[in-house]
Amino acid sequence: MSTAQQTTLDVAALRSDFPILQTSVHGKPLVYFDSAASSQRPQAVIDAMVAMEQRHYANVHRGVHWLSDRATEHYESAREKVRGFIQARHAHEVIFTSGTTAAINLVARSWGDANLNPGDEILVTVMEHHSNLVPWQQLAERTGAVIRAMDIDDRGHLLIDSIDDLLTERTKLVAVSAVSNVLGTVNSLEEIIAKAHAAGAVVLVDAAQSVPHMATDVQQLGVDFLAFSGHKMCGPSGIGVLYGREALLEAMPPFLGGGSMISNVEIDRFTPGVLPAKFEAGTPPIVAAAGLGAAVDYLQAVGVDRIHVHEQQLASRAREVLSAEGDIRFLSDGSAEQAGIVSFVVDGLQSLDLAQVLDQHGVAIRAGHHCTMPLHKRLGISSSARASFYLYNTVEEIDQFAASMAAARKFLKRGVGRSSTPSKTQ
Ligand code: PMP
Repeated sequence: MSTAQQTTLDVAALRSDFPILQTSVHGKPLVYFDSAASSQRPQAVIDAMVAMEQRHYANVHRGVHWLSDRATEHYESAREKVRGFIQARHAHEVIFTSGTTAAINLVARSWGDANLNPGDEILVTVMEHHSNLVPWQQLAERTGAVIRAMDIDDRGHLLIDSIDDLLTERTKLVAVSAVSNVLGTVNSLEEIIAKAHAAGAVVLVDAAQSVPHMATDVQQLGVDFLAFSGHKMCGPSGIGVLYGREALLEAMPPFLGGGSMISNVEIDRFTPGVLPAKFEAGTPPIVAAAGLGAAVDYLQAVGVDRIHVHEQQLASRAREVLSAEGDIRFLSDGSAEQAGIVSFVVDGLQSLDLAQVLDQHGVAIRAGHHCTMPLHKRLGISSSARASFYLYNTVEEIDQFAASMAAARKFLKRGVGRSSTPSKTQ
C-alpha cells in the first residue's frame, strides 16, 4: 500500500457512522471540535451496548447461570481486545476502572501508599492534567513525598534534558502525559522512560490523549503503568483502563475493597483475589465494557496510525488558516510532533466569549484552563481556547471554523457582547 493510501481516511464514510454528527446547532451543522474532552460514538459502539442490554446482560463472574456466563464472556472479551490494542503481554494486566482519573488514583493509593516515604520524590511535568497532578499531591500529603516538575520551553515543548538534573536517587515515580491535552505536544516517552528506569523510578503514563489517536505498545515502551479513558476513544463514558506490569500489580495491595476482589473473607480479615479481580471491586461497568470493546474494533478497523496522520493534517491546516489574522497566539508552535489539538488565545478577546460566539455558528470548541491550571500559569494566561480533532473531522470544517472565527472576532472586537454571553440570536 502506498503512503498516500495508508494515510487517507474516507472521512465522509466515517462520518456516516456517527449519528450525532447530523445534529444542527442553532440552525447550523454541528462542527465538533471538542474530542479531547470527549469523543463521539459510532453506531457500532451504540449497537454493542444495546445488544448487551437487550440480549446478554447479567452480572459477571458470579453467576452459575447461562446468562451470567454470556455476560462474563463479553466482559472478558473486551479486556482481551484492549490488551491487543495496547500490546500488553497479559489480559490480567488490563484493569477496568471508571476512567483515567480513577486509574491514576488507584496507582497513587495502592502503589504510592505502599512505596513512598518522606523525602521521596515524584517527578511530573508542568503540562499535566489535574488528574495526573492532584492524586500525587494527595499522595505527597499522606507520605511526606515531594513533587518536582519538568518545565516547557517557549515553543510548548517539554524541556526533556532537564530530566537529567531532576531525577535523583530519591525519585520513586515519574508521572507524565503522552500527549498534552492543551499543547498537543507528543512527549518523547522512550527517552523519559529509559532515563527514569536508569534512575530506579517507576513510570506512569497518562495516555488519555494518546491511546485514542496513535498506536500504543506498552511492551515496546517498557512503561510500568498507563492510564486512559473509554469516552475519548469512541467508547462510552464510565469506563477506563489502568494497564500495569504484572509484577507491579501482583505486589500492590488492593485499593477498593468489596465484592469480587477477594479469594476468601473471614469476619475480621480477607485474602485478595488474583489479577485483575483484585483491583475490580464491586459490579464493574458491564455495558460500558461492551462499548469499549466495540470502540477498539472500530479504531483498529480504521487504523490508529492513519487517524494520527489525518489529525496532524487538520491541526496544520487549522494553524495555517487561523494565523492569517495575525492576532492569535498558539500555546505551542507546532514544530515538534503534534497531535490534533490546537490551543490559542486571541489578542484582546476572552476565550470564553470566543467559544460562546463560535457556538452560535455551530462550532463546539473548549475554553478555560482545560484542567491544567499550572500550565496556564506557566504561560502567563488564565484561560485559552482549544480546538481538538478526531477521525470524523474534515478540512471543510476547519475552513468553517476559520470563517466563524473571523465573524466572532468582528462581533467581539466591536465590543458587543464582550465578557458576557452573546445574544442567542446573534
Ligand atoms: N489526562 C488527560 C491528559 C486528559 O486529557 C484527561 C481528560 N480531559 C484526563 C486525564 C482525565 O480523564 P477522565 O476525565 O476521563 O478521567
